[in-house]
Parts: sequence; structure tokens; C-alpha cells
Amino acid sequence: MTFFFETYGCQMNTAESAALQLVLKERGWTEAPSGETADLVLLNTCSVRATAETRVMGRLDLYRALKKQKPFTLIVAGCMAQRMGESLRERNPAVDYVMGTASRSVFPQILAAAEQGRAFVPSDEAPVFSFSSSHLEDGQFRSFVPIMHGCNNFCSYCIVPYVRGREISRSPESIVREIRLLAERGVREITLLGQNVNSYKWDGEGPSLEFPDLLELVAEECGKLPIRWIRFLSSHPKDLSSRAIRVMADNPLFCRHLHLCVQHGSNAILGAMNRRYTREKYLDLVAEVREAMPGISLSTDILVGFPGETEEDLELTLDLMERVKFLYSYMYHYNPREGTAACDLPGRIPEEIKRQRLGRVIELQKGHTLELLKERIGSRETVLIEGISRKNADELIARTERDEMVAVPGSLSQVGSFAELTLSSLRGNTFRAKELALCPGD
Ligand code: SF4
Repeated sequence: MTFFFETYGCQMNTAESAALQLVLKERGWTEAPSGETADLVLLNTCSVRATAETRVMGRLDLYRALKKQKPFTLIVAGCMAQRMGESLRERNPAVDYVMGTASRSVFPQILAAAEQGRAFVPSDEAPVFSFSSSHLEDGQFRSFVPIMHGCNNFCSYCIVPYVRGREISRSPESIVREIRLLAERGVREITLLGQNVNSYKWDGEGPSLEFPDLLELVAEECGKLPIRWIRFLSSHPKDLSSRAIRVMADNPLFCRHLHLCVQHGSNAILGAMNRRYTREKYLDLVAEVREAMPGISLSTDILVGFPGETEEDLELTLDLMERVKFLYSYMYHYNPREGTAACDLPGRIPEEIKRQRLGRVIELQKGHTLELLKERIGSRETVLIEGISRKNADELIARTERDEMVAVPGSLSQVGSFAELTLSSLRGNTFRAKELALCPGD
């Protein structure tokens, strides 16, 4: 039997789709080239923006039309499923199952029913969230490892705490078990994943752990395995502790890159966003990180056009970008999200102004990216070779620990290895290197 997935939204959804696909593959299912020919279609959805939800509703209408021509199982999973529940099925009767983020544990039962050509009727019991594990196919060398789920922060623009629920941390034992399994399958780099990893807290069975303790534990484990690089995502500035920075700095397995979402450079807007830090605190944190790990690259998220944002507020954001010089940023403009605190705030910014402001932020970031990349030409770097270039079959694509991409001549057999090379030139935002030397033991 065959399946087809459409995945929307963040890395958490990417990781969860991979986990669900692994369950399918372990049962003998194969991937179909499109939804038209699949026996099962799953839409893993995102609720962060209204446009993402509208797009999914449009896709569901298409699948509804397709269902009139042939039978298949249609599942809506992820945040939209969690937020809208059974009302999705009422709006579109072609949907067979609505599988929220808390109820993925029913997936094997849905599959068993689909394999036998019958319907699965979920029980009325409230679902219990469980982390999926070992979400990896052979031939992949980087993997996400979810360590927590949900968020307690309630940033005023964000729907995530309402759809993913409160924070749940995964047991250290289950995290370590998964890391060992990933290493056995050939993984060389892991990214610990959560909406706000810094507030990881385990106080279940065994010793209690906070995020820095988990980092130490994971680093110790990876030190015994062929996993050589560790990253984590996303970090909330109010929760990144000095101890976590020290643990990172003291262990070379932690990549010298940090994604530290700032969102805005004005204290008035940060307050209205309920971010619970100031620009001064953020800049101090950046200084602390850079002092502990000189040369580390930083990236961020920036949200402009928030209600009440003045020209001066925008200038403060541009000024903060100048001071920090992020390697890259995810930049977007505010759109009201029903059900969030900011939705009812006065002072909405007209679309045209939001677009102009976003354009200014993007232009500045482009300049910084180029400037920072140019400074790196000539450096000798260790990279993880991730695959063959899509544009040139004789070229490999690799990544530095600072999260920069490099194209270098090489062959398929070198994919998945660590290598050393010199960044010799730049095309777009990708470095070129003339040759590579595999690291000892790779
Ligand atoms: S930290 Fe804020 S922006 Fe991030 S998921 Fe939580 S509420 Fe949303």
C-alpha cells in the first residue's frame, strides 16, 4: 500500500512527519509520487498563520473531489487538527481521521484498519501525548530529536501554546535511547528540538534534570558514539541560562551556531509581544554567548508590523540587527491570529506599511549575511557532507558547524562523512571549496 504526505509549518512537524512515515515503512508501505495515486494521504498541518490553514482547506477540497473517483484514507494531523478537532470532518466529510498532536498514538490502529479495508473508531478517552522516536530513514546523517513539546510562554501573537498545549519534557532515558538508535543508523549530527528547549525540565523518574544537565548528558552520550555535532532549537532569550552557555562552550560537540529568536528591537513592542526580556538583556546575552564562544554564528526570527509599532520602533530593530549582525534571519510581518491576545490590540499597521518595513529588514539582513560570509573566505573548516548537489552531480553539498553551506567536488561515497576544506569563494550564499580531505576515521 502507498502513502503521500503534505507537511506544513515548523521543524517539529517535519520531525513528526518523518516519525509517522517510518511507522508506515516499517509496516511495508511505500511512498507514492502524489496524492492522486496514494492509498493514504496525510496532511500534517500548521496553525501559526491563517494563510497556512486556508491553504490546507483548499487542499482538502481537492482531495474531496478526488475521493469521488477512488477510495483512499484521508488524515489531517498536526496543529490544525488539534485546534479544530472534529469540526474539520464536519466541514469536509472526505476527511477520515483528525489526528491532533496529542493523539498520534492512534496512528498504528488507523493503519491496521486501512490495511484491512475497515474503519477505525477512536475511543472517547482523552488522548495522552507521547513522543515518537527513531524518525529516521537509512541514508540520512542529520536528525532531529524532540526533547519537549508545547509551550508555556504565550507570546501575544502566537497560537502555539493553544494548539500544542503546555510544555511536556521527554524523559532523559527515552532521549538517550533514541540517540543511540540514530547513531546505529549512521547519524552524525543531532538537533535537540522543542518550541522552547531552554525550559526543558525533567522531574519524573530518576534524577531531575534541567536543560544544561540534559546538554551534559547528551554530550557525554554522543562522545561515546559516532555523533560528532549537537545543535538545539529553538532558544527563548529569557530562558537561555549562563550555565547552558557554559556547557555549550566547554564541549566542542556543540556546534558554534545559535538560533536566538529576538523578534523585535524595541522594548515597547517586546513588552506588547509578552516576550519578557528587553533589548538590553538580549544584547547582554549575545555578548555573553560571544565571549564564551568567539566566532559563533547567530541567527534569529524578526517580526515587524506588530500593532502599535512606530517608525522609531522599527529603527530600534534595525539598530539591534546592526549591533548583533545575524548570519541569517527568518523575517515576517505580523498578521492577526484569532484566539491570540494580540488579535484585539489597537494600532494595526496598514498592509502596505508592513510590507515596506519588512522589505527594509530583509535588505539589511541580506547585507549582513553577505558581509559575514565574505569575511569567512579563506578559512579552513570542518564540514558534514550532506548530499549530492541538485545542480551538479559531481558536486557535494556540505554544512559547517556555523550553519553555512559549501559546495565542493566529490563523490557519493563521501556523503555522511566529516571533512576539512578551505572556503575559497562565494556564489550567492553558498561557499565553494576546491577540494576536501576526509577527517581521520571517516
Ligand atoms: S515561545 Fe512564544 S513564539 Fe515561541 S512557541 Fe512559545 S508562545 Fe510561540
